[in-house]
Amino acid sequence: MARIERIADDLVVIDVHYNQTPQVIGSYLLLGERPALIETGPTSTLETLLAGVREAGVDPRDLRAVAVTHIHLDHAGGAGTLAQRFPQLDVYVHPVGAPHLIDPARLVTSAGRLYGDALHRLFGDVAPVPERQVKVLNDGDPVLLGSRRLVALDTPGHASHHHAFWDPSSADLFTGDIAGVALPGSRYVRAPTPPPQLDIRAWEQSLAKLRALHPKRVLLTHYGPHTWVTDLLAQLEERLHKNLRIVREGLAAGESEDAITRRVRTETLREIELRDGPGAGARYEVIMPVRQSVLGLIRYVGKNELADANPPKPHNPHN
Ligand SMILES: [Zn+2]
Repeated sequence: MARIERIADDLVVIDVHYNQTPQVIGSYLLLGERPALIETGPTSTLETLLAGVREAGVDPRDLRAVAVTHIHLDHAGGAGTLAQRFPQLDVYVHPVGAPHLIDPARLVTSAGRLYGDALHRLFGDVAPVPERQVKVLNDGDPVLLGSRRLVALDTPGHASHHHAFWDPSSADLFTGDIAGVALPGSRYVRAPTPPPQLDIRAWEQSLAKLRALHPKRVLLTHYGPHTWVTDLLAQLEERLHKNLRIVREGLAAGESEDAITRRVRTETLREIELRDGPGAGARYEVIMPVRQSVLGLIRYVGKNELADANPPKPHNPHN
């Protein structure tokens, strides 16, 4: 399978071959006056990324910028190593994510809770991005990547510090994880809901913001361009709600984490096979394990809804 695929005159998707699996993490190379990447993938796959950049005809020393949608290690874990090796790179990030690129210690601890012993094998080292290379983008800020003037869109939900990148002239929308996970050839969307910052209400608002743009194409990190945008976003929203409902019901019934995970897994596999045929679920599990999505939802329900059920007494300044 080709490591790179040209998806527009000035746009290439590079398959970094995460965890020896094709087409689960993609990095976008934008060609033109300011060669740039959207997403680096993890450090463990950086050599594959750079080989892809060269294969697309770009000397990595000519890259000028990297924009990351958020700082989860499968999207930006390689940013520090890349920035140190190529000091000419500007690294664009959400203001809330920026401190964690400069000092990734807490990020690594948090990822360690999810991945345990597999963390280093999957992602490699996580090096800090030198502070002078970190460029913060706020909601609505323009950024020149390749030959495209993109707009950073604050899109919380999957994480509190998530950007999508919108190209008004082509109607291409680079979505990171906010439009979910849909692998090539699939008509199914998985809802990636890992801890610790999941916020379903914020996610709904982000989806409304994306729909209002009427994108022609969404370009997912997991994975590639998809043109069935309306169905994709509708499926994602439906699935967020369905999984939340299963988790909520499980918690209300006093079920264990394992029991709730089994329930979500069964339903998830049924849905994938309905759309994509038998055996289609395995590659989704590589990039977004059901267990992690359930943990995120359990934490979200505990943090928000259980707290809502016992609201703190309103503060009365006259008491
Ligand atoms: Zn993520």
